[in-house]
Amino acid sequence: MDEFQHIKDRIGALEKTLLQHNDLYYAGETTEDSRIISDLQYDQLYRELADLYQRYPQFKYVDSILNKVGGVRNSVLSKVKHSFPMLSLSTKTGQTINECVDFYNFVINIAKSIHFDQDVIRFTGELKYDGVSLRLKYVDGFLTQAITRGDGSIGEDVTINAFQIENIPKIINKSTDHGFAEGVVWVCGECIIDNATFENINDQQIKNNKPIFSNARNLAAGTMRCGEPDLVKSRGIKFLIYDVVCEDKSKLSSSHVHNLLTLEKVGFSFGDFCLVSNADGLYSFYKDVEKRRKQLPYEIDGVVYKVNNLELRDHLGYTSREPRWAIAHKYIPQTATTTITAIDIQVGRTGKITPVARLKPVSVGGVVVSNATLNNQSYIRKKSICVGDEVIIQRSGDVIPEVIESITAAACSDSDSGRFWRMPRWCPLCSCEIVLSSDEKQAKCTGDIQCPGQIQRKLLHFCNRRAMNVVGIAEKIIEELLDKQIISNPAELMALTVSDFLKLRNVKERSAKKMTEAIDSARNTTASNFLFALGIPRVGEEISRYVISNIKDLDDLLSPEKLPHTCKLLHSVKGVGPIAANNLQSYFSDKRNIEMVTRLLTLVNIQQQPISSQKLSGMLFAITGTFTNATRDNIGDLIIKNGGKLTNSISDKVTYLIAGVGGGIKRQHALEFKIPVITEEQFFKLLENTK
Ligand SMILES: [Zn+2]
Repeated sequence: MDEFQHIKDRIGALEKTLLQHNDLYYAGETTEDSRIISDLQYDQLYRELADLYQRYPQFKYVDSILNKVGGVRNSVLSKVKHSFPMLSLSTKTGQTINECVDFYNFVINIAKSIHFDQDVIRFTGELKYDGVSLRLKYVDGFLTQAITRGDGSIGEDVTINAFQIENIPKIINKSTDHGFAEGVVWVCGECIIDNATFENINDQQIKNNKPIFSNARNLAAGTMRCGEPDLVKSRGIKFLIYDVVCEDKSKLSSSHVHNLLTLEKVGFSFGDFCLVSNADGLYSFYKDVEKRRKQLPYEIDGVVYKVNNLELRDHLGYTSREPRWAIAHKYIPQTATTTITAIDIQVGRTGKITPVARLKPVSVGGVVVSNATLNNQSYIRKKSICVGDEVIIQRSGDVIPEVIESITAAACSDSDSGRFWRMPRWCPLCSCEIVLSSDEKQAKCTGDIQCPGQIQRKLLHFCNRRAMNVVGIAEKIIEELLDKQIISNPAELMALTVSDFLKLRNVKERSAKKMTEAIDSARNTTASNFLFALGIPRVGEEISRYVISNIKDLDDLLSPEKLPHTCKLLHSVKGVGPIAANNLQSYFSDKRNIEMVTRLLTLVNIQQQPISSQKLSGMLFAITGTFTNATRDNIGDLIIKNGGKLTNSISDKVTYLIAGVGGGIKRQHALEFKIPVITEEQFFKLLENTK
């Protein structure tokens, strides 16, 4: 037997498989995933074939798929030959900086060999939009033709559809800023459907009892290839550009980015990009985009690196299939199959609630995953996911693993539609109500600072003017401090230094100093403000004051020996009550809270309020109504400073009710208990005359 038979067989098989998948790919079906294999698998097969041909060139097929850019297509649209090939890009899938370094070195070496000035070489990083490529032809500024990529040499004429896309300028106006309104200009880009539009389309499908579309890319492809311009319009296709070619090259700037920015002024759109001079810059772009990928308004499957200098591009040239001045660096979506053992909810630090799937642990790309996000209730409903299901989970880079599909649900009939998970009504951390938006995409715990999960809210409350009064630290600063794990509680916030603030984005010496000064000037506080700032459930501003006026000092709460007695006493203090007393007891029974508060006390100076006099000692006051010369807070502070006590409700123990305007019920109760009701003025007189 021919010793190379197995090589030949493998080559034959690869040629056949790749051709078949190209056919499917370019068939652009709209409702199903038309590619049976993923882009990644496709690329692997492609590379295996390229490898074999390198080692065994003698077996190369004359009409090898490697010589074609795409594949064959089948279409009812009229076919048009591209004036020059519309190439695809060489794709890298490694997840390291090596991909960037290799590309960089390749370019630099060629630049050196032709004595190209290395100082002017720049690279762009751009988003690799996951849509369908389109080339627009403008003649003297008028859009005359739109052709899909097709196999790269022959595409389909979709001009009529392109006219329906809102962000494609139909006319480029003449301007002294550019030469794009003269002669023949080709603008290349990608047609996409953004995530919000895609979800709306699917919501509509559900409403109309029609099958939902599986992904935006295929929907965009199918829509562009349909013969119904109205459908193109209604589906909100967008066009994002990535390149421009002019028949008369002198019309172009020698900088690719400059050309894109000029086209943007003319009315075209494109996504994030970077302009850098080395491999490090490209790799940071790759990592940064990966982090933000889920927040982008549309799907991408990687980034693209290009040489920015057009003259250098000319020197670098092309292979038969790809330009040598650009590569695509893809993100590898790593998937695995496992079972959902439970669905829990997670409370974000601003109160946002996210359903999380607990999974039978499974390795995804070398990382063991046992939790994955389910995004929101609408997502779970659409995908009909429930506990016990066998599901596919996906993980890419730093992004949180996500349940992307339920295999069990796919095998269920429509009559099982009642089988999905629902958001609980109460927050598991604070028992407050969870509010779900009408589209079921947002859920929030209403517990606010009462909810232990809402640390960001808690810190904002801590800084509040009425609490610790730390003014000048913005919410987004707190958010970043939490994100970077510089702080995780109020004590750490009060211990922040200039160098901590300098670790934040866009924070310079001056503002770092200002923020530490804000903390310093907040260190002087009162015991009741301090207690209120801790954000203990139900221990609000007024209750904090009552608590402080009824205990000797904070040690009554911090000392585990004294705590039970203190709380028992607070139970019966009117105005504090059993709920707040119980919450205080459970807060100060937690060792972590005691540690945090003890540390916090070393960072603040509690002003001893009641010291100034004992004039009102033994007296219990209640306050009602509004006053003209002082606020209720002022009067309350004065009572405490002078040794008096405060209560919120009337009983026979109350010495005086201080009543301003209004406050009917307390006044009535005071009459019933025969308690003297005094005015603001009378109170101040009492304070003056008492010794
Ligand atoms: Zn909560």
